Amino acid sequence: MRALVTGGSGFLGSHLCDALLADGYNVIAVDNLLTGRAENVRHLANDARFELQQADIIKPFDFGKVDYVFHFASPASPVDYTEWGIETLQVGSLGTFNALDAAQRYGAKFFFASTSECYGDPLEHPQRETYWGNVNPIGPRSVYDEGKRFSEAAVMAYHRYRKLDTHIVRIFNTYGPRMQINDGRVVPNFMKQAICGQDLTIYGDGSQTRSFCYVGDEIEGIMRLARSSEHLPVNIGNPHEFTMLECAQVVLQVTGSKSKLRFEPLPQDDPKQRRPDITNARALLGWEPKVTLEEGLRLSLTYFKEAVQKQAAAQSALHAR
Ligand code: UDP
Repeated sequence: MRALVTGGSGFLGSHLCDALLADGYNVIAVDNLLTGRAENVRHLANDARFELQQADIIKPFDFGKVDYVFHFASPASPVDYTEWGIETLQVGSLGTFNALDAAQRYGAKFFFASTSECYGDPLEHPQRETYWGNVNPIGPRSVYDEGKRFSEAAVMAYHRYRKLDTHIVRIFNTYGPRMQINDGRVVPNFMKQAICGQDLTIYGDGSQTRSFCYVGDEIEGIMRLARSSEHLPVNIGNPHEFTMLECAQVVLQVTGSKSKLRFEPLPQDDPKQRRPDITNARALLGWEPKVTLEEGLRLSLTYFKEAVQKQAAAQSALHAR
């Protein structure tokens, strides 16, 4: 069995490659390395069952026969997808068509990494898969949100009209080793700031909520959905909800840091609340997350410390030149 993972050297994509290899698949990761990093899959370089192809999937691609296509390519942090707005829209439209066509060409199964951003700034709480969302179609987040919503429509259309065997996961905030420390998301920002003794930047008054899932739990849910016969979107996320102020406290506790909090303006259209209803994941997949935020941050601490050190070393090398 051969699986192709678009975005295979990104944060989630690279963990998915590990899980697929462990499951017995040969894996081809396809990535243009815009926000993904070759470093995330460097540990697989000597595995004959793994290959990384640097290619942009907004152009049609064919890397030979595959049995499963996992479409995970996209800038995913608000900072990244606002910087790479056009690229985000392209990968969430042209890229999705090309990935679907690659699956159809070989009669392969198809799995799409969608997002809780489909719910926008949700008026229903917690969010069930049946909720249609509250998305600003022209705001700064729209390049990501509408790309993902369009992609869900495309996946369902290939399922309905072309009989593709498809799956859609709606991923809620996920964190862990291999996140880019500069992607601007709350967990890498807080961890980096706490480790360096800098103020933790709280946007707005910090009362907005997110529900954080450890990457190991998230990948386990994704693998279960990939093996299932469910075609409709399924939420995979941790239903334990935190305000950003609470999240900051957990980071300070885990890092033992004495950093203070600094309040900064809330970005436009920042969702006020997010929490998955995982009734479907429990019932259909027998899945629920096991790792608490505190445990997951402890499991990630060494990674973040090393990433901060590497960044500092790279900066001082730059200065020395
Ligand atoms: N946030 C924050 N400080 C930071 C980075 C983010 O308070 O340094 C907030 C942000 O405003 C949002 C939440 O943390 O309410 C999650 O932001 P993130 O960028 O991680 O992902 P999102 O869930 O918004 O896509």
